[in-house]
Amino acid sequence: MPSRNSLLAAVLVVFLLIFTAGMPPSDRPAFVPLASVAETLDLEAEFNATTGIVRLTGADTVLLFEIGSREAYLPDGTVVIMKEETTLQDGVLLLPAEGVDLVIRRTAKRPLRWGYEGSRFFTYTGSRPVEAAPRPDGPALRHPGGYEVRTVIIDAGHGGKDPGGIGYNDIYEKEIVLKVALELERELERSMKGVEILMTRKDDRFLSLEERARIANGTDPSKNPIYVSIHANVSFSASTKGYESYYLSLEPVDEEAREVASMENSVLGFEIEDYNDYLQEIINRIVDIEYRRESMRLAGMIQEGIESSVGKKSPNRGVKNAFFYVLKAVKMPSVLVEIGFVTNGEEALRLCEPEYERTVAQGVAEGIVEFAELFKKTEGFTR
Ligand SMILES: [Zn+2]
Repeated sequence: MPSRNSLLAAVLVVFLLIFTAGMPPSDRPAFVPLASVAETLDLEAEFNATTGIVRLTGADTVLLFEIGSREAYLPDGTVVIMKEETTLQDGVLLLPAEGVDLVIRRTAKRPLRWGYEGSRFFTYTGSRPVEAAPRPDGPALRHPGGYEVRTVIIDAGHGGKDPGGIGYNDIYEKEIVLKVALELERELERSMKGVEILMTRKDDRFLSLEERARIANGTDPSKNPIYVSIHANVSFSASTKGYESYYLSLEPVDEEAREVASMENSVLGFEIEDYNDYLQEIINRIVDIEYRRESMRLAGMIQEGIESSVGKKSPNRGVKNAFFYVLKAVKMPSVLVEIGFVTNGEEALRLCEPEYERTVAQGVAEGIVEFAELFKKTEGFTR
């Protein structure tokens, strides 16, 4: 005699069969290739492989997802935490179902249901798919410029009427940093063959921060340029010494959205004449967030490079972040290196020795080479 439980199970199976047979072929998978969502919904998808940030741009909005993160950023500054992470699998970007809902809600003119079947993403209203475009998965979104760093901009700080820090024995920062920058140029030309090395200045001349940024931003972005600004430090304490690398600080990660939000609020105060300008502004903010992560990595590698090069001669003061105008203005991964303190007698004198200048430059070059190699090997830090 069948037990009560097995009878119940049989009934359940029958019910399931009846129900699933009547359902439209629109099962919601946990993940959908982002490229097919973008294509079906007519959104522009951009993927920065280095930072793992994916931007979906519609007619009047921008959405941001991040590989390995459950967060989705909306242009009003809201951060939506999804149950699953946006992921990259075998070169295909996968958006969690919840992310798909969000994208539809923010970009479609009317409520749409969606399905994914046979490698096809489609939307529909009512109970049946209206239109299931017969197309296979789109190719995975790729970094448009490939994965090779092909331009390095070296910026020697200060110059001309701007001496920078004046230290022990009237040693000028602008002179030391120019010599190290020139050594760095030589070093990179040797170790990064075929890579364009650009100097903001090669002699003792004044350059505004805007001019430095203009030189850097004038390079071809598809060559994955990076920007390294060489400076020397000053301190009220004569005993302070060591080297440190800075990347641009906006705010910690959870504050980034607030940054976008505060920008939007500032726009609300006046008439928006050109909505595209406004949209571009949002995109620019997001790009800043992307480059900041790359800059952080580059700063870490430069610190390691200098440490392996100078050894115990000078202490490693680590990676720091602060607001530097020039880092903010440069639209690429950018790091400002403080190679040592001109206010420390011992360090100031050493920084004037050509041998030590070469050693520091070699260390910085090592960090840059390491960054470029890893960027290529990991296809923009995604592997
Ligand atoms: Zn300086």
